[in-house]
Amino acid sequence: MIEFERVSKRYAEGHDALREVSVTIEKDDMVFLTGHSGAGKSTLMRLIMLMERPTRGRVSVDGVDLSRVGRARIPAHRRNIGVVFQNHQLLFDRPVFDNVALPLLIAGYDHREVGRRVRASLDKVGLLSKERAMPITLSGGEQQRVGIARAVVGRPKILLADEPTGNLDPALSAEIMALFEAFNQVGVTVLIASHDLALISRLHHRILTLREGQLVGGEGH
Ligand code: ADP
Ligand code: ADP
Repeated sequence: MIEFERVSKRYAEGHDALREVSVTIEKDDMVFLTGHSGAGKSTLMRLIMLMERPTRGRVSVDGVDLSRVGRARIPAHRRNIGVVFQNHQLLFDRPVFDNVALPLLIAGYDHREVGRRVRASLDKVGLLSKERAMPITLSGGEQQRVGIARAVVGRPKILLADEPTGNLDPALSAEIMALFEAFNQVGVTVLIASHDLALISRLHHRILTLREGQLVGGEGH
């Protein structure tokens, strides 16, 4: 589903954020990406989302060489990818429903379909009863689940999460990881950047380790 072939990324002013990274992530995979701050985790994810282009090498997603995806097709590419952030990036002046509906409204879905899909997503993350709640009234774990509902509402093939449990205690973090596992079990490819080694080593998924832009563990399949 995601393939990096000898990918290097050098930013305008800096050393190489990624160096000769080769890795294949299969459709059924749930993979953790770890490494110190600055190791290149976010850069790797931004290349998948086409927020950045590689300096060398090839990134392919779902069989498509991303160098062949021009600017006009980037929005369509991103609709295949749900993204979860550490700080949720919720709209705090809008209720839960509106937050989750946002990607569908941008994509032009009609209102009945929006309602149906938003409720299906909220149900999957256990927040159906909170659709009218304002995000500020929710706990940190609930806010993160709203972020996950928003990421999956467009039924993406790939779910990317950048430190999704960064602000949560261990019990809530485990719950969030169980949610990602549930989406993975229904066929979503999941890639999660995390430096919570205690948490991710307890879950039995492949761990990719970046050190100064190079993969030092978990490469290949
Ligand atoms: P991580 O997510 O593991 O913390 P990043 O991918 O954010 O790592 O960063 C990798 C390296 O690239 C770091 O040295 C960082 O300073 C550099 N970097 C990241 N984004 C940019 C940018 N937009 N411009 C220049 N350098 C950047
Ligand atoms: P488009 O312009 O095609 O709507 P977007 O980048 O706005 O592309 O969104 C595409 C998909 O990426 C969304 O369906 C959603 O799953 C995910 N996404 C984008 N931005 C966010 C975000 N801030 N939080 C969560 N998911 C996001």
